Amino acid sequence: MPKILIAGAGIAGSYLWRLLVRNGMNPADIQIVDPGSQTRCGIASCAFGITRQFFPLCHEVGLNPEKYILASPAIGYANKIKFDIKGYMFSFDKPAFIRDLLEGAVVTSSPSEMGIERIIDATGTARAYIGKYENDILFPCIQRKVEFPQPPELRQHSHYVGYSWIIPLEGNQAHVGIGSATYDTKTMQETVEGLTRGAKTICSCRGYIRGTGLILPLVQGNIWAVGEAGGIIEPISGAGIVPAIESAKLLLEHWHDPKGYEAALTKKYGWLRKTSELVKEWQDKGALNTRKLLGLWKECAELAGFNPGIFNIKPTA
Ligand SMILES: Cc1cc2nc3c(=O)[nH]c(=O)nc-3n(C[C@H](O)[C@H](O)[C@H](O)COP(=O)(O)OP(=O)(O)OC[C@H]3O[C@@H](n4cnc5c(N)ncnc54)[C@H](O)[C@@H]3O)c2cc1C
Repeated sequence: MPKILIAGAGIAGSYLWRLLVRNGMNPADIQIVDPGSQTRCGIASCAFGITRQFFPLCHEVGLNPEKYILASPAIGYANKIKFDIKGYMFSFDKPAFIRDLLEGAVVTSSPSEMGIERIIDATGTARAYIGKYENDILFPCIQRKVEFPQPPELRQHSHYVGYSWIIPLEGNQAHVGIGSATYDTKTMQETVEGLTRGAKTICSCRGYIRGTGLILPLVQGNIWAVGEAGGIIEPISGAGIVPAIESAKLLLEHWHDPKGYEAALTKKYGWLRKTSELVKEWQDKGALNTRKLLGLWKECAELAGFNPGIFNIKPTA
C-alpha cells in the first residue's frame, strides 16, 4: 500500500517523485495522481522559459539538459532595451522533461488509497489538498504557440500591470502570451493578437500565475506544499519552474523536519512576498517602484542565475 501521495504531476511533483526513487524509496510506496490537462501538449500551460540553473538540476536527477533545450537566444529585449543574454536564458521542452522525470511512474487520475502517511500537495495554483489561502493572488494569463515567418526574438513588454512575452521555441515557433493583474480578457487577447500578427497559430491555452509570494505554513498535519502550491513563484517575472524544482529538493533535504523545510524555503524564497507587495503598489500607484526592486537585486540576480555580485547581462547598443 502506498505511503506517500504526490498530488500533481507537474514540475515539482514529477521532480520530487524522481528524487525520492533515486534516493532509494520503493516506487510502490508512492502514488502519484494528476487529472491531466486539456491542453494540446497535455500539461498545465507554460511558456517554458528557464535560466541556467536548469542544467545542474537536470544532471542531479540523471537527465541530460541538452535534450530539452529548444532555443538559446543570444539577444533579448525588455521593452525597447536590448540585452546580451547568451548562456543565461533558454526555452525548453517542458512536456518532454516531465515525461522523462516520470519514467517508470504510473500516474493515476485520482487517489485510490486511504491511510496515506503523507500527502505532497504539488497541485500548483489549485492547492487542492493544503487548501485555499484567503489572501491569495492569482493573475490570469493567456498564451498562444505560434509559427512566425522568420525566427522570433525573445521579447518582454511591460503593461499596466503585468507583462507580455515572446519566447522563441524551436525553428520559427514561439510562445506568445500575457499575464495581467488589470486587463480584461478582451484587452489581453488584443495584445496577443498584435504580437502574433502574420504568425500561424498552433494552439492556445490559459492559466494563472500565483502572485502571492511564499505561503506559510507549508506543512499542515500530514500535508506538505511544494512548488507553486506553496507560493514559490516570483510574482513580477512569473518565473516558477526553477523555484518549483528547488523547493522539491529542499523538501527531500528536510523530509523528517517540517520546521526545517519551512525555514529553508523562507530563507531562499521569503523575499517573494516583497515582490508581491511591489506588484500591489504598482497597481495602486500606477508605477513600479524600481528603487525598491533594485533593493532586491541580489535575490533577483540569484533567481535569474547570474554570478553573485556581478550583474552579467549587459544592455547592448
Ligand atoms: C501562461 C504561463 C506561462 C508561464 N511561463 C513560465 C516561464 O516561462 N518560466 C517559468 O519559470 N515559469 C512560467 N510559468 C510558471 C510555471 O509554469 C509554474 O510556476 C510551474 O510550472 C509550477 O510548477 P508546479 O509543479 O508547482 O505546478 P504546475 O506545473 O502547475 O503543476 C501542477 C499540477 O497539478 C495538477 N493538479 C491540479 N489539480 C490537481 C488535483 N486536484 N489533484 C492532482 N493533481 C492536480 C495539474 O494538472 C498540474 O499537472 C508560467 C505559468 C503560466 C500559467
